[in-house]
Amino acid sequence: MTHALDDADPLAPLRERFVGTDSPLVYLDGNSLGRPLTVTVDRMRAFVEDEWGGRLIRGWDEAWFDLPLDLGDEIGSVCLGAAPGQVAVGDSTTVLLYKLMRTAVAARPGRTEIVIDRDNFPTDRYVAMGIAGECGLTIRWIDVDTSAGVTVEHVAAAVGEQTALVALSHVSYRSAWVADVAAITRVAHDAGALVLWDLCHSVGSVPAELDAWGVDLAAGCTYKYLNGGPGSPAFCYVAGRHLETFAQPIQGWMGNTDPFLMGPDYVPVSGIRRFLSGTPAVVGMLAIQDMVALVDEAGIDAVRKKSEQLTSYAIELADEHLASYGVTVASPRDPARRGGHVTLHHSRMAEVVPALWERDVIPDYRDPGGLRIGLSPLSTSYGELERGIDTVREVFANLG
Ligand SMILES: *Cc1c(COP(=O)(O)O)cnc(C)c1O
Repeated sequence: MTHALDDADPLAPLRERFVGTDSPLVYLDGNSLGRPLTVTVDRMRAFVEDEWGGRLIRGWDEAWFDLPLDLGDEIGSVCLGAAPGQVAVGDSTTVLLYKLMRTAVAARPGRTEIVIDRDNFPTDRYVAMGIAGECGLTIRWIDVDTSAGVTVEHVAAAVGEQTALVALSHVSYRSAWVADVAAITRVAHDAGALVLWDLCHSVGSVPAELDAWGVDLAAGCTYKYLNGGPGSPAFCYVAGRHLETFAQPIQGWMGNTDPFLMGPDYVPVSGIRRFLSGTPAVVGMLAIQDMVALVDEAGIDAVRKKSEQLTSYAIELADEHLASYGVTVASPRDPARRGGHVTLHHSRMAEVVPALWERDVIPDYRDPGGLRIGLSPLSTSYGELERGIDTVREVFANLG
């Protein structure tokens, strides 16, 4: 089955490089767990047999010790607009958020507040609340429209000389709202605060310009649009201007000046390596590297362009086929303000999503009443999306 939009799509041929794209299953959750690449299958086997199995402990000296920073530079250059030496891979996003938030509040002594929005991803809010408790700080909550997201005006009204840190998401996990990172960062800096951006839902689909935007700190996960596989390690960005003065709270041997000296004291090594704590997950980095190479081959701007077209098409199909059932679009309609997914709302979505999974159409559900359609630009086709929306229509028609 072919689709005119796929025929016209210059990135369409890349889809067959992903495992499983030859099956009729409709996968609309690439923003939660990206599909693996077929090259990764071979890469994993070769790694186990030759690098791990053959080089054994020598692998650390030969390649693995530098992998968290080498891969960090690759992600930085292909996806983040970050010059080398500012991105490291390791830990989970949650742990990195803790490390970076804790670093930020320590770098703004005397300031008493963390600004964060009530609709940020749960882990971001929980980590901020934990640090507030630990450090005797207060959270200043921003209330947002859950079909949109945080604006410059919201942040301008929330920051002041009490603000240590503003912690927000580049793309909202719920609505896909794209925050104006440059303008919000400027407003926070004018108040003397630091800014931490969560890039989980943008990295690999919505380009960032972290250096140009003046961002202080950022973190993101790699198993969504970077297809690193379940539990693949996260990345953090710390602007070069902060690297010599910022110190992170999980003082581990991998961030020490000479880890193999096994010395009595912790003296953070210079550069981004100081943000590592313990032994990084090498196996988890291999798949990320394959996907970053593919994004580089396609070009992040071409990826973004297809992402905008896919999400626009999803909205067009929803308006045409689902609006009559009372389904509404709970994501921005302006493609420039919308990331790589679209959320559709209906009070009975909690019943609809399991019926879709039974029919091999896999989006996800976000309470209350949100059907989230994740459109991973390199592995999703327009035909696949159309079949998915058609099945949603069928389920609504039979809902009774
Ligand atoms: C997916 C996601 C996370 C996940 O954090 P983990 O530590 O990897 O579980 C955090 N924040 C946002 C905004 C996300 O979308």
